[in-house]
Amino acid sequence: MTDVIRLLPDSVANQIAAGEVIQRPASVVKELVENAVDAGATSIKVIVKDAGRSLIQVVDNGKGMSDTDARMAFERHATSKIVNAEDLFSLRTMGFRGEALASIAAVAQVDLRTMPKGAEVGTRLIINGSIVESQEPEACAAGTNMMVKNLFFNIPVRRRFLKRDSVELSNILREFERLALVNPGIDFEFINNDSTMHRMLGSSMKQRILDLFGKGLDKQLLPVSTSTPIVSIEGFIGRPENARKRNALQYLMVNGRHMRHPYFHKAVLMCFENLIPSDSQPNYFLSFTVDPQTIDVNIHPTKNEIKFENETPIWQILTAAIKEAIGKFNAGPGIDFDIVDAPEIPVFRPDHMAEHSIEIDTSYNPFRQETPKNPASWSGGDSFKKTGVGSDWDQLYEEFIGKPTVVESQIGTATSPGLDFGELKMESAEAMLIPDDNAGSSAGSRSGGEESSTIQVKNRYILSATASGVMAVDQHRAHVKVLYEQIVGRLAEGSAPSQRIMFPEVFSLTPAQSAVLSDISDRLSGCGFEMSYLGGESWSLSSQPMISDGINPVEALISIIEDYQHARPDDDVGKWRSSVALSLARSGAIKRGQKLSAEERDHLINELLQLPTPNYTPDGKLIISMISADELAAMFR
Ligand code: ADP
Ligand code: MG
Repeated sequence: MTDVIRLLPDSVANQIAAGEVIQRPASVVKELVENAVDAGATSIKVIVKDAGRSLIQVVDNGKGMSDTDARMAFERHATSKIVNAEDLFSLRTMGFRGEALASIAAVAQVDLRTMPKGAEVGTRLIINGSIVESQEPEACAAGTNMMVKNLFFNIPVRRRFLKRDSVELSNILREFERLALVNPGIDFEFINNDSTMHRMLGSSMKQRILDLFGKGLDKQLLPVSTSTPIVSIEGFIGRPENARKRNALQYLMVNGRHMRHPYFHKAVLMCFENLIPSDSQPNYFLSFTVDPQTIDVNIHPTKNEIKFENETPIWQILTAAIKEAIGKFNAGPGIDFDIVDAPEIPVFRPDHMAEHSIEIDTSYNPFRQETPKNPASWSGGDSFKKTGVGSDWDQLYEEFIGKPTVVESQIGTATSPGLDFGELKMESAEAMLIPDDNAGSSAGSRSGGEESSTIQVKNRYILSATASGVMAVDQHRAHVKVLYEQIVGRLAEGSAPSQRIMFPEVFSLTPAQSAVLSDISDRLSGCGFEMSYLGGESWSLSSQPMISDGINPVEALISIIEDYQHARPDDDVGKWRSSVALSLARSGAIKRGQKLSAEERDHLINELLQLPTPNYTPDGKLIISMISADELAAMFR
């Protein structure tokens, strides 16, 4: 039998290695910037065109390369950073594998200009898919100027796999943010398609955080600082009340390197337990310094996964430092967490109904400041016809009962066990219920003599008596559902009517959010949003969807952008519409804690019961709960 094993040619080996190291334009940015940092640069400029597809350029003022080194740098396993395996355990540089440039040159066209400090002339080297095209002396600035053009030009499959520009750009920006954060002493600049998205001077870590993520964070950061023989930890945590439901800023760094470390992440979260709502996440920026001998960064080609020898003691040191930071802040005048954190318990809670009735809305954030809205304006846009008080609910209930209590298809198997609506006949609420003290106040809000068949409890639930028991409705969820159905209907028609805002609202976004917004602004204008980019971080909103008076359009817009950042970019139109509609509905819906007049309560129930599936929200949360007459009777046995 003939021998079949051959060594792969270098160009092929490099392409394979590139598959691991260079996954997308953001990986190129990471490798080039890390090289610039390793070269001792104090100023680094990143320039991209078409989200890195046509150009990624990194210009530094670091130590530069001689002409031989420039050539050598593109050989596989060529590195100036380690000499032997021992050195792996005392790394102080970002790079060491000597793979990045070889990999990049295998899948792109490279144009490098570099000159060591003090030299008279530099060198220019052009490489095309691993093949050196030319190398010539050239007058250039000290430092390195590396252009990587047409990434994956010779691997059409990889090129096709790139996501749309806004997504790749947002990945690049996230990578850039990490690099700039972990190197606060270096000047950084980021230019995309000729517009400057970031420019910041070397400074402290705190200043760098503000430069990157907005001055608004200034008042939100609590310093963390501890120094032990095993580890020093410096950085900041966000105040508990600034925890975010989405896109929390969470950064862990070790020895000047960004890292992913689920175990330490968990340590941080644990310190915030019971201080923030369970669906929210704290911001944190924590930088560890350890003896390089005690970590292993060589477990993954992207060098983001890091193994610590002293994981357990570091966990303890970390949690102690964070608790101390929170403690100092708590000692000052602040929030009484006991009060804001306690979930409200619904009034009626027969045992076997408990799983439904105490279900807590995970989107509820007790820290958010809700501005009470004009109660007259809650009810929605023009298509939200008023049916008026005293319309024939019995008939509506009949229709409702006739419908299966199965949730809409997207929620799958969730059913509502034990909900037997029997023969519902309206009776006077007062005859069936003695309201608790909170409800008493809302009963008092009824305008004189007005007849209503509902009462409001805790400014949160609407209760209504029926012949077979009591129906309890969560007011916020009910209104989300009603608004959602209207909005989704309008979006499906293609163009939601839009309403000009008298004084256009100016708001600011992070560069990554801006990139997404530019990308989806066309689709959004189909939904009634009109906005324009003002430059820098600022946008202005001139029209909003004419859907509900109560919607805070900027809040809704940001939540749409955030949803979009997390969704796959090629999600189908239907899903896009539902998620936009849900964002709008949530922002426009009456809140928990909002007092409703008798007319408003009746109107809401009326609208709700006319929907085909009134009992669950689009994301599967229970809206209506029944307490049967038998259950009531059982309470008094
Ligand atoms: P590594 O960073 O792992 O050593 P790279 O392939 O990224 O491997 O780089 C190879 C070598 O090229 C580096 O070790 C360094 O000597 C040189 N080099 C790369 N980029 C620069 C730069 N911007 N300035 C100076 N030298 C550089
Ligand atoms: Mg490198």
